Amino acid sequence: FADVAGEDEAKESLTEMVDFLHNPKKYMAIGAKLPKGALLVGPPGTGKTLLAKAVAGEANVPFFSMSGSSFVEMYVGVGASRVRDLFKQASEMAPCIIFIDEIDAIGQSRDSVRGGDSEREQTLNQLLAEMDGFDTSKGIVILAATNRPETLDKALLRPGRFDRRVIVEKPDLQGRIDTLKVHSRNVKMDETVDLRELALATAGAVGADLANIINEAALTAVRSGRSMVSQADLIGAVELVFAGKEKKGKLLGDQEKKVVAYHEVGHALLVALQKHTEPVQRITIVPRTMGSLGYVWQVLEEEKYMETKAELEANIVTTLGGRAAEELKFESVTTGAANDIEQATKTVRAMITMYGMSDKFGLMQLETVQGKYLDRNAVLQCSDKTAAKVDEEIRNQLKKAYDEAKKLLSEHMNALDAIAQYLIEKESITGQEFMDIFNRVENAEQNVEQE
Ligand code: ADP
Repeated sequence: FADVAGEDEAKESLTEMVDFLHNPKKYMAIGAKLPKGALLVGPPGTGKTLLAKAVAGEANVPFFSMSGSSFVEMYVGVGASRVRDLFKQASEMAPCIIFIDEIDAIGQSRDSVRGGDSEREQTLNQLLAEMDGFDTSKGIVILAATNRPETLDKALLRPGRFDRRVIVEKPDLQGRIDTLKVHSRNVKMDETVDLRELALATAGAVGADLANIINEAALTAVRSGRSMVSQADLIGAVELVFAGKEKKGKLLGDQEKKVVAYHEVGHALLVALQKHTEPVQRITIVPRTMGSLGYVWQVLEEEKYMETKAELEANIVTTLGGRAAEELKFESVTTGAANDIEQATKTVRAMITMYGMSDKFGLMQLETVQGKYLDRNAVLQCSDKTAAKVDEEIRNQLKKAYDEAKKLLSEHMNALDAIAQYLIEKESITGQEFMDIFNRVENAEQNVEQE
């Protein structure tokens, strides 16, 4: 378990299973039955496979692992016979652990699968039969992983089958610090490295991302001929993992580069001008392989588990700030704001339909979320008439936020010009440089006013 960082609650649930595999007699003496299986639920890359392996390692028993999709083949009956074989092998080797990854590939609710997918159904039935058939006293524990628990067949989840559900969430700040520590154990790092700062900069990342970041940083250090990883390598790796590689060569023309610079500084200025937002860490207008032409990187000061209405509103204004800056400066707009518009609309919609933050619609739930651990599809739960009104309200709110963004920026055009100019020269600037220019311009203006 030492290799699995964070996830303390999940580890606690699984420790009991390990103990059961070690001394089943203790449990049987009292008449307790142990769960036959546990379902590990959570987003991809959070360490579900790792946890299952850790259970096997701790219990010191054989580990059988198979992916749900590998059961299901073209020919009917193959999957079922594979399940039979697996359980036969396992019962010969008991005590042992069977791990089925992506169990949703076979365990999908039989209702939701249209039109005689009999192969999947047979495989599932066989699995259910096997699970009922074996006796826990032999010491077989079945672990399965999924990131779509809501699609699973109810029969799989009933007591006596996967009766335990272990939630493996995205790591919080401490979890990320611990994960970074685990993965940097064998990496030589110099004294500039601050893993807490790195953890703060990677809110929302899962264990697999963090492992990747450490490794990319190590590769960068090697590439530049150094023997130790520095904090700058690590921060660079974060950008590499989330935004892609920097594109080499002169990609943008002068005019386009100018537009991108104003766009990004527009976002950054609104961060500085509003309360309730996170400070700017870096602004860059170097295009990246994952499609961004530039971005503003904000870093949390503290881990957050919820957001207030005021914070969300400030975020929407910030998000629309890029387009606002373009319009104010160039009196024309570009396609560059597509992502911003998508994101702002999503936030406004969620505030109205899910968080009860709209005066007009009050506390009524208008949307539900499906696929919590994957794409989070929202599904409307209201009449068409209400939906049309929601759309109208979203449009109003977005307009209000956009007007606010334009108003704030138009009062600080000198700062916008100065910072954009500097950014065009440097291409990447730090939050500190940004704030220095901002304060200098603002102070100069105040002095002029006073005179
Ligand atoms: P999942 O099965 O949830 O999709 P994996 O268990 O396959 O994720 O994780 C992939 C990799 O990410 C692991 O091999 C490990 O290097 C890293 N990782 C994920 N979560 C953690 C964690 N909690 N602690 C340490 N490493 C982790």
